[in-house]
Amino acid sequence: MGTGEIITIGTATANCYLVLGEIPYLVDTNVPKARRRIMAALSGHGLSAGDLRYILITHYHYDHTGCLAELKRLSGARVAAGEKDAAVICGESPQRGPGDISPAGRMLRKVPASFLEKYHHFDACEVDMALREGDAIEELGLEVLELPGHTEGGVAFYQRERKLAFIGDLVSNFFHRPGPPFLSFSYDKGAILQSMRRLGDLDLDYAYPGHGSVIGPGAAEKIRALAAKLASRWGLA
Ligand SMILES: [Zn+2]
Repeated sequence: MGTGEIITIGTATANCYLVLGEIPYLVDTNVPKARRRIMAALSGHGLSAGDLRYILITHYHYDHTGCLAELKRLSGARVAAGEKDAAVICGESPQRGPGDISPAGRMLRKVPASFLEKYHHFDACEVDMALREGDAIEELGLEVLELPGHTEGGVAFYQRERKLAFIGDLVSNFFHRPGPPFLSFSYDKGAILQSMRRLGDLDLDYAYPGHGSVIGPGAAEKIRALAAKLASRWGLA
């Protein structure tokens, strides 16, 4: 049981992850244009879409759900996402526009919503498992942590045994420097810090982010240091 080798499927925009092993699964599905790259990663490891048993989604943004509907159709995999973001993924709730916690976000709020919607579009997809704090995906040995701040229903998937987690956008790692999520599409600095501190309190060696390279070894410590730096930069103790 548990997780096998983790393959990063990256585009210029985002990462998603293919996890090999007895039960192959994807974490996130990148942008809509990543379909071919995801299929190539599967076939490169002797798999086809039909072998995927789960597709786990860290949050609803289009660069994580871009290929979701199509891959669900092709694979029949069970789709799991945080409860609040699941409502957006299945098309019940609208996406939120830019947040107001950064200058870039405030500027984007002046852009017509229809323009951003077109750019951020993904096809709605049924969610089989709406996840909450404390849930587990037992077959995969994963615990679910609700980590709001970037989106309201963002989650991380934590594999305690291997001290690794898929953390979505909560912490980026461009040029091997842990940093905050894109603030223009985040909503709450206090919640971001709190969620980072939760990750920092885990026994966590490696964190797999939506943007940038893998964080670790020593991921928890690096994330704690980032949270401390941001708390003083943002004036939030
Ligand atoms: Zn995001």
